[in-house]
Amino acid sequence: MNNNIFYIDMDSFYASVEELNDQKKEPLVISMNYDKSIILSANYLAREKGITSGMPLFLAKEKYNKIKICNPNLEKYNFYSLKIEEILRFFSSTVVKQSVDEWYIDFSKSNLIYNDEYELASRIQNKIKKDIGLSSSIGISYNVFFAKMASSIKKPFGIEIISKENFKSVIWDSDISKLHMIGKKTTIEMKKIGINKISDLANFKDLDLLKEKFGIIGIKMHEYSNGIFNDFVSNKNTSISISKTFNHLLNDEREVWKNFKSIFEELWEKTAYKNLFFKKIIITFYEKNKSESKSFTFNNYNLSYEKYFLQATVLFDKISIKKNLNKISINFATLIHSFEFKDQLDLFTNEPEKDIVSKVNKKLKEKLVTYANKKLI
Ligand SMILES: [Mg+2]
Repeated sequence: MNNNIFYIDMDSFYASVEELNDQKKEPLVISMNYDKSIILSANYLAREKGITSGMPLFLAKEKYNKIKICNPNLEKYNFYSLKIEEILRFFSSTVVKQSVDEWYIDFSKSNLIYNDEYELASRIQNKIKKDIGLSSSIGISYNVFFAKMASSIKKPFGIEIISKENFKSVIWDSDISKLHMIGKKTTIEMKKIGINKISDLANFKDLDLLKEKFGIIGIKMHEYSNGIFNDFVSNKNTSISISKTFNHLLNDEREVWKNFKSIFEELWEKTAYKNLFFKKIIITFYEKNKSESKSFTFNNYNLSYEKYFLQATVLFDKISIKKNLNKISINFATLIHSFEFKDQLDLFTNEPEKDIVSKVNKKLKEKLVTYANKKLI
């Protein structure tokens, strides 16, 4: 098998779990039952009525007033998530959980002999369906990035292979926003320089402009769109750091600051180059016989350089030893690879939620929409 990475993504997971025992299938959404609450998941029958996740319930009711509403039950979803994972582990021990309803499996070191990727995926899919009753879609590729993209192409209950041979015909014609990892902002910036389709990025000649606009990630994206994944970093390391030892003692605070800043920038580049995101910053200053550390943990991944740098500055100020330094080290911890970072609407995190809620309120010119209480969920 040349394409060893399988990406399994359950189809409208919460809604599917809720309708497991229903005889009659009907349009159904997962939401708290207040008009202002936001829909977390909609089944395919509801989607046919134009109802999507992220929509406030009252708008959904306007589209279909007999919509069935189920309160979210995270315990139940976790229970089924574990059951699915058990089935996946029956096929391989290298199952990596990405979220409550997404996993990838690396079959490259598998002892089992499979000749045909499609047949294996179909067996996995059918076993989940038969044993639990839930529908999944599976993407297959030679890297996680394409496997994840492939999983969404033929939903629901689909299987798609993106190989070294066919990737151009499968993805090149798609809108640039479909390239995994490209978020809304990057999409807008890409379109400004004439990159509308994935093929436009793949054939883009001005690499300096890509680097200038998007940093090293721009170059990586260009490689990905050409099917090149030389430096895929697995998420084994939990932190990345740079330490610098000085051959003379730093006594001047401005000099300490200058070095600190340049180490921070170097580490930022290194992290971006490896496509890693982080949540925690730890800085340590060393004197001859003592050291002092300060750290800060953010709530989210993928914040702007300015936000991280500002926080690093605050940590710098908090450290009391700034004289006779012989070493400075900065560490970014709680790393995830960008493959694992979901740049999509996730209603259980804060920022995208705030964004959509304020947008809806703006549209309605009134503060009508509020959040479903996380504790109630
Ligand atoms: Mg899913």
